[in-house]
Amino acid sequence: MAMSKQTVTHDIVIIGGGLVGASLGCALAPLIKQYGLRVAVIEATTLPEATEPPGWQPSFDARASAIAEGSAQRFRRLGIWEAMQQEASPIRRIHISERGRLGATRLNAQDVGVAALGHVIPNAWMGRVLHHELSGLPLEWHCPARVEQLAPVVEGHHLTLSDGSKLVAGLTVLADGGRSGLKEQLGIPSAQTSYQQTALITHVGVSQPHQGIAYERFTTDGPIALLPLPGNAMELVWTHPSGDEKARLALSDSDFLAQLQKAFGDRAGRFTRVGKRHVYPLKLTTADEPVRPGLVALGNAAHALHPVAGQGFNLALRGVMDLVDTLTQALAQARFEKAENHLNVADTLGAMETLTRFEQCRERDRANVIRFSDGLVKLFGLDWPLLGHARAAGLIGLNLAGPLRRSLARRAMGIER
Ligand SMILES: Cc1cc2nc3c(=O)[nH]c(=O)nc-3n(C[C@H](O)[C@H](O)[C@H](O)COP(=O)(O)OP(=O)(O)OC[C@H]3O[C@@H](n4cnc5c(N)ncnc54)[C@H](O)[C@@H]3O)c2cc1C
Repeated sequence: MAMSKQTVTHDIVIIGGGLVGASLGCALAPLIKQYGLRVAVIEATTLPEATEPPGWQPSFDARASAIAEGSAQRFRRLGIWEAMQQEASPIRRIHISERGRLGATRLNAQDVGVAALGHVIPNAWMGRVLHHELSGLPLEWHCPARVEQLAPVVEGHHLTLSDGSKLVAGLTVLADGGRSGLKEQLGIPSAQTSYQQTALITHVGVSQPHQGIAYERFTTDGPIALLPLPGNAMELVWTHPSGDEKARLALSDSDFLAQLQKAFGDRAGRFTRVGKRHVYPLKLTTADEPVRPGLVALGNAAHALHPVAGQGFNLALRGVMDLVDTLTQALAQARFEKAENHLNVADTLGAMETLTRFEQCRERDRANVIRFSDGLVKLFGLDWPLLGHARAAGLIGLNLAGPLRRSLARRAMGIER
């Protein structure tokens, strides 16, 4: 069927103003300024009232993410690290162990010559900082508005929004978290593997100072991660077989804390209080076609991982920055080749040549991180007695083997790809 000619209304439309879409909006600032890019961000959910400067009411039930040192450097490049840091807790050591086995590995910031291996930041705070930054940029903001239809046209994509707007974009960025049905509307399949596991997230109080230690403890039910938060509080990510979450959600606070103590042991001290509990079913999802002419999928729309290694957003942020770098090079090249008045910005941004270059520089990093996270889940999920000893020996061996441990630390920091 022949497609009718449309007038391009935007050079770039970002679908989703979550962590990834909002980061991309901020990272596009230099290009918006240099080329006068017409950018729109569409976000389906109403945002909490933004205040000036961003206000923050610390609460005991928010979700927090482990942000690798490499991501902190990227936020620095965006000029928002200072604000992010206000609510960040440094990770000075990572302690990895397996319940019932002797082995343990410690990754120290000192060993790799850095002040912190990473930082734990409440997602709500990251959202506030990113949206505060976005509010200062000359971009179009549709919120709350949902992209209901997305269809390819010669010029890129045609978008129909729930607020009645119709847009045509040279480059459309799917940063919708992958659950909105838009990928399916476009016929982009995704490979999905359910881990048959659910992560329970909450904040817990601990009886002793955590000293900036993040714990990863593998148990027969699944991994338990504890991340340092300000004060004597830690973010808990407790993974268990799907189906068990109803019982864990229903436990009284004291029974929950007792079960956690039994599963985790005493190395972080006594668990003294617990916040609101949230559950997330876990699966590995990868989009078969992360780029198409005029379209790119980023963040969870491209890859949703098991949170065991805290890599999902860190990987996505590298994708955001690589996309902006690729678009910057493509525009500079096109401007060099064509007279200024013949530069078609929207065409250049959405060209398959540009997007293939982007995909080529993402492929390896994405595959490595997926292999690393998925491999950890599988390695520690296998209940073979001999393998258990090998894992313990591996954890101890890793503690002794300086270079290997430093390499693991660099990967955890998001510096090694
Ligand atoms: C339990 C858990 C713990 C994690 N911990 C870590 C960690 O410690 N470190 C780390 O790096 N990563 C971690 N991750 C991964 C991280 O949370 C994700 O990588 C990140 O949230 C992905 O962000 P996103 O913007 O791609 O998607 P989302 O956060 O899902 O945002 C998508 C946005 O798009 C909007 N939207 C959806 N559909 C539409 C539509 N049709 N129109 C307009 N807007 C739409 C939604 O409202 C939403 O705001 C964790 C994940 C889980 C599940």
